[in-house]
Amino acid sequence: PTASAARRIVAALVRDGGDGEVAVADGPVLREVRLGDALAADGLTVHDARGPDGRDRVRAARVAVTGADFLVAGSGTVVVLEADGAARACATVPETLVCVAGLDRTVPTWEDMEVLLQLLPRAAGGDRLSARVSAWSGVVPGDGPREVHVVLVDNGRTRILGDEAGREALRCIGCGACSAVCPVYERVGERPYDPRGTGPSGPIGAVWTPLARGVDRAQTASLPFASTLCGACAEVCPVKIDIPGLLVRLRGEVVDARRHRPVPAPEAAVMRGLAWTMADARRFEAAVGGATRW
Ligand code: SF4
Repeated sequence: PTASAARRIVAALVRDGGDGEVAVADGPVLREVRLGDALAADGLTVHDARGPDGRDRVRAARVAVTGADFLVAGSGTVVVLEADGAARACATVPETLVCVAGLDRTVPTWEDMEVLLQLLPRAAGGDRLSARVSAWSGVVPGDGPREVHVVLVDNGRTRILGDEAGREALRCIGCGACSAVCPVYERVGERPYDPRGTGPSGPIGAVWTPLARGVDRAQTASLPFASTLCGACAEVCPVKIDIPGLLVRLRGEVVDARRHRPVPAPEAAVMRGLAWTMADARRFEAAVGGATRW
């Protein structure tokens, strides 16, 4: 579903599963759809599953929501890589578990997953394995939640998939290595890439957001230009996304989109005046001479 549909679906599941209280283990896809804010605005009580009292809050909740880093299609497994174990806690005591994942994070088999389990922590922080890797495949009688729901978020991903050249951006595994080496990101931080914090930041954000939302708005149109095209991002990307190549292509799209826009009236008047002046040598010389004397 779209981000708003995902918020509605999760809110309905939380309401059906309990007493209006929910423990949430925050993660990128939950921030992308602004889930915590939406659940609170819907009148639900949201408890953060992370932090010092996180475990107590999870134990008290009948419903928990987590993000998911990957889904293994062959076995129907949700996989979460994390440092603090908040998502793992959510898969223990609460009776209902809702996992929210981006469509792009589905891999066919565990053989594919094995590669990513090594690739992601190495690219993200130079670790051989994430501190905690949790995997759950539905309901096991007498152990863990009695209901497991998986909400697959589209939110522009199928639009990216429809772009033959741009679809390589969907290979992103969210390691953050491109941001770590980007000289622009180092100076501006993550907010300019998406002031609402709902999309990826850094070099991949400068590609992903215009691909997912189009380049007809000022904010998305400016993103492909937020780069020196130094190529450091492509060099470190573990899944070999050609970020500079996509940035150049998107810059072309922005220019093309603006070509068809009407030129503002004052600018058009100035251009007409210049054209009239330059169309005649005497007029042009007079104008240049006048400007020089002045
Ligand atoms: S684009 Fe590549 S380097 Fe950047 S976050 Fe995605 S996988 Fe990591």
